[in-house]
Amino acid sequence: MEVTKAICVLKGPGSVTGTIRLKAEGGHSTSVAGEISGLTPGKHGFHVHTFGDISKGCGSTGSHYNPCNETHGAPQDKKRHVGDLGNIEADENGTARVEMVDRLLRLAGKYSIIGRTMVVNEKEDDLGKGGNKESLESGNHGAGVAWGIIGIDEDPQ
Ligand code: ZN
Repeated sequence: MEVTKAICVLKGPGSVTGTIRLKAEGGHSTSVAGEISGLTPGKHGFHVHTFGDISKGCGSTGSHYNPCNETHGAPQDKKRHVGDLGNIEADENGTARVEMVDRLLRLAGKYSIIGRTMVVNEKEDDLGKGGNKESLESGNHGAGVAWGIIGIDEDPQ
């Protein structure tokens, strides 16, 4: 069975919760859509981490998923981690509506993100433009405020 739909239920140690649904679109792209609430207003880094191990929170999920050994970047950059989804932006009520289509995320095959973890961060991701080492590794986005393992979702077909 080829996986075409996935779901990620995000929860944090604090008040942040959300649900993200992923869907393989035609060609080579995956849509990412959902809502995350309980955030501080403004931008928050949003990434897929390598492992699905949340036994120590997001601290045990590894780095941004990076099977091609690239530097950290923005989703539209040529050089980026596969897991780099940039930032989501919360409104004044702390809710972020996520709606993006990504050209590197895959739900099946060698680079599948099923079983890996999505993490929302405390701070904004500088997208590799921060001018220091940490920026090119992870974007200076601070700690995780919510995370969840990406699982297979029902496909009505
Ligand atoms: Zn990254």
